[in-house]
Amino acid sequence: MFIKKYNKYLIIFGALFLGSIVFLISSHKQASSDNTIVYSENEVVVIPEIQDRQELVEIKAGSTFGELMHQIGIAPALASEIYASALDKCDLAQIRAGHFLEVDFDKESDEFKQLKYKIDSENELLVIYGGDDIDKSCSAEVVAIDYEVKIVTKEGKISSSMYAAALDNNIDERAIIELADAFQWSIDFAMDPRVDDTFKFIYEERYLDGQYVMPGKILAGQYINDGHKYEVYYFEEDGDNVGYFDADGNSVQKMFLKAPVAFKYISSGYTTGLRYVEAFNVSTGHRAIDYAATYGTPIRAVGDGTVIMASYNGAYGNMVKIRHNGTYQTNYGHMSKFAVKKGEKVKQGDVIGYVGSTGFSTGPHVHYEMEKNGVKINPLLEVLPPGQAILDTNKERFFSTIKEYQAELN
Ligand SMILES: [Zn+2]
Repeated sequence: MFIKKYNKYLIIFGALFLGSIVFLISSHKQASSDNTIVYSENEVVVIPEIQDRQELVEIKAGSTFGELMHQIGIAPALASEIYASALDKCDLAQIRAGHFLEVDFDKESDEFKQLKYKIDSENELLVIYGGDDIDKSCSAEVVAIDYEVKIVTKEGKISSSMYAAALDNNIDERAIIELADAFQWSIDFAMDPRVDDTFKFIYEERYLDGQYVMPGKILAGQYINDGHKYEVYYFEEDGDNVGYFDADGNSVQKMFLKAPVAFKYISSGYTTGLRYVEAFNVSTGHRAIDYAATYGTPIRAVGDGTVIMASYNGAYGNMVKIRHNGTYQTNYGHMSKFAVKKGEKVKQGDVIGYVGSTGFSTGPHVHYEMEKNGVKINPLLEVLPPGQAILDTNKERFFSTIKEYQAELN
């Protein structure tokens, strides 16, 4: 087990000069033997303050909460109390290997004071041991993780794929996946990208104690595809209309996603040159798009609708058909496994099955068709109306929000 001891001494320098200037120097690890230091000739008095003792406990595979508590000297009864107080917020029996428990002990009594555990990327569990000296108890709450946020701008030029360009430019792959997701209604990243396409985007980087943790929100992005500029701007209009909008304030979220396979699943094959995608081609009679992907890759519904077929269908193998409305239907073939049943209602992005090679197929891929009034059309060329626009009353706020992003991107 790995236990890191933090005996940090925060030293606060209160400085009295001619005026009243205060210096703050942090992360001074060395405790002084004397509680008072005369700092050079400027009469700076140093009073080191001993902080709570902190144990950072790494959760190893197979280790239990009780064992970990025992190893840092917490009695079984107290460990049970911590566990019970947290249970309706977070089951500490389910803590994940590779993550940490952060436990603080009181600087004076060395008694257990609090425990923190990150539930997910957004929230952490906080268990506080409090009350008076006679009657102490644990109380638990879920609090938002307080990241330090840095806003950065990154860009790249496509030579093979956006994913490869991101890696070449030292961009966190999680950020590029988020960016691709913001464009998932406008760009099919398997079919559309061209050599010399460019992208630029502004996003948050999250830090904890000065250490980079992960990307946060994508605030704005631009992708120039074959000379055509696509833009997305993050905006919170109100509780219901939050997301990405174009420069005119129209939601970029449309009725259909551009592709039935998410960017994160097509990207890796693409960069290694193993990509095989067959385009829509009337002359060959292939009125569909084939997306090559690894066996078992999730296939998603491109739009809301009702499943009208989820069964074996000859050359198409295992096939799902979704009716979206009176006009549109989409079909997905060669699945290895179904994730839906006939008659089921699905939402855009729901997983409906998994990539396979059933029926007439030479390798794992999704055969994806779109029908409009019963005629098979090229989904990449279909122009769909934009999503919900920002209300006129909120447009001024929107345009002023995106103004600096636009200046940065263009
Ligand atoms: Zn096909």
